[in-house]
Amino acid sequence: MASILVVGSIALDSVKTPKGSSQEALGGSAVYFSLSAGFFAGVSVVGVIGEDFPQTHRKFLESRQIDLTGLEVVRGGKTFRWVGEFGKDLNQAHTLETHLNVIEHFQPKLQPHHKETKVLFLANIDPDLQWEVLSQMSGPEIVACDTMNFWIHSKPAALKELLAHVHLFFVNEEEARLLTKEENIFKAGRVLSEWGPEVVVIKKGEHGALLLAEGRYYAFPAFPVENVVDPTGAGDTFAGGFLGYLASDGNFKDAQSWKRAAVHGSVMASFTVEDFSTRRLEKLSSSLIENRYQKFLELLRVEDPAQILQITV
Ligand code: AMP
Repeated sequence: MASILVVGSIALDSVKTPKGSSQEALGGSAVYFSLSAGFFAGVSVVGVIGEDFPQTHRKFLESRQIDLTGLEVVRGGKTFRWVGEFGKDLNQAHTLETHLNVIEHFQPKLQPHHKETKVLFLANIDPDLQWEVLSQMSGPEIVACDTMNFWIHSKPAALKELLAHVHLFFVNEEEARLLTKEENIFKAGRVLSEWGPEVVVIKKGEHGALLLAEGRYYAFPAFPVENVVDPTGAGDTFAGGFLGYLASDGNFKDAQSWKRAAVHGSVMASFTVEDFSTRRLEKLSSSLIENRYQKFLELLRVEDPAQILQITV
């Protein structure tokens, strides 16, 4: 199985949305990403947890064949915690508390088999840690990266430097504006691509995603979900579907592959938002994913009468 290495947060999340709340539940960028990408490719995680991380969570991740040999456990340490809230606008997460805990002094050390991985995902975490992982790799074919406003505010220079070395950048609409100081989202995308990434994916929550590649924009709607329960992790799950598909496809340079990858990302994100924490991903199967993927293709299909005429003439 093709494999992906991810560095990111492994968290205990407390989240409130108009549909309810969850306390100290499994979360974190690396967790959502791995569970999603794991449906398409092998995934190894580099990250850190404290001794308080529940064994049940660890066992669950292992049961999904996620390689945890790069997971460090800090004796007496506390796992990263995030407390967030969504109001009526489910596209906007409000961070109430961020407790970096063991992430603050984490020094990732890659094992030999990690260094050889061809697909690297630098999930949302301190840009200095993203850089440390990237610098230990021995020539990945594709490097993708994500971030969030917390790091854009606290480490903008490190983030911008990192972007010069990544092929693919996943970013939220608001974060793209914040980072580039461009109000127009299309201009913001262009500025980001000038900083380095060949492909920029701008996530727009329930309004879908924009993909900028080879100077052209492609637009994707979100799969219609009527009962959004908790949008936490949608972005990481999107990246998991996107990169998982690319790793399984093996074609990292073709716009058609990127477009199919974006559809897989949207499909995976549409599941995550249907329940709190990772609950929906826990119950997911490959056949449910394939079914929704086909529905999504149908949603995107437009028949142009002029073209039909040309073919039949
Ligand atoms: P998203 O996919 O953007 O909704 O990401 C949600 C996940 O990001 C949550 O599970 C949080 O634990 C995690 N998270 C929140 N803040 C941070 C941060 N500053 N660094 C790393 N991960 C974070």
